[in-house]
Amino acid sequence: MKRLAVLGSTGSIGRQALEIAAGSGGRLVVSALCARGGGSLLEQQAERFGAAIVIDVAPDRPSGFRGMEALEEAVASSDLVLNAISGGAGLEASVICARAGKPLALANKESLVIGGQLLQGHLGAGLVIPVDSEHSTIWRCLAGERKKPAGIILTASGGAVRDMSPGQAAAAGPETVLRHPTWSMGPRITVDSATLVNKAFEVIEAHWLFPGIPVSAVLHPQSIVHSLVRLADGSMKGLLGSPDMRLPIQHALLGGDSEPVFVSTDSPTDWPPLAFSAIPGDLYPAFGLVCGAGEAGMTSPAAANAADEVAVSAFLEGRIRLGGIAEVIGAVLERFEPFPADSFEAVMEADRSARALAESALEAMR
Ligand code: MG
Repeated sequence: MKRLAVLGSTGSIGRQALEIAAGSGGRLVVSALCARGGGSLLEQQAERFGAAIVIDVAPDRPSGFRGMEALEEAVASSDLVLNAISGGAGLEASVICARAGKPLALANKESLVIGGQLLQGHLGAGLVIPVDSEHSTIWRCLAGERKKPAGIILTASGGAVRDMSPGQAAAAGPETVLRHPTWSMGPRITVDSATLVNKAFEVIEAHWLFPGIPVSAVLHPQSIVHSLVRLADGSMKGLLGSPDMRLPIQHALLGGDSEPVFVSTDSPTDWPPLAFSAIPGDLYPAFGLVCGAGEAGMTSPAAANAADEVAVSAFLEGRIRLGGIAEVIGAVLERFEPFPADSFEAVMEADRSARALAESALEAMR
């Protein structure tokens, strides 16, 4: 029996994780729930799972729910923490988890993108378990593999704009972009999939999770091959199947040896023909920018993340079109002076100053 804290419980990953817990026959007991403005859904979850600690980060939370100050207690009273908080706001929970030495099932990739250095000890101890489907695939492919890995190839669906010209994609609005062709996810990650900012973040995430292995990415519109590991002899290993986040979630929560709760009934004859191609830089200008921030290191990825969060909000509010997101990220990275990302405060400082730069870039674009 494992006591599980689900952070971000009302989002897509959190809800699916709770279904896995519900079907686990007591192997996963939900000890804590945390959401932002969870409302009636969080109340239902609290009642259904009888979690001892329920946190609503929103200031106008219902009585009986606790605030962010209860997070350390929630982590301390669990055996496993699922961090499925959206965006850079998830870093604090990951840092608390690392400090407490608790295994961290990580769906919040921003924790590694902006604060990888702060989690290095926890990563080195093998206590960060990826939930992201691509990294879960790499994790599983490397488990028990005795041949040396020579490379990681992440696959990208290309999002809603993949069949458009660069001009059409740049002019796309939220109504087009929020229709993701293969994965059903929250709004920010759906937009990040259309710009490939999400994939660039995953490249950075892979560097932290699998240090020393070169990482690249290809377009694979069908999302059937969930990434590949190239071994020393050039042969490739991957996991294949129709996209379903329940598989990586349960792998992270239950471990590889445990009886599965969810069993896919997928068959290769259900799959469309599989295609792979290089990522066109003119269709996805933000991809190269964010990968460049990853290579620059220090607080550059934190600046890129903050710029993207501000730009995606502006996009969802109808203030800019899709192409504006890369413009904002580019403008911020050009003006941002990186410094070492060696403390939580340093990362937050980078976040604040990049947000201010992003707001002024948005102003200049009006
Ligand atoms: Mg992913």
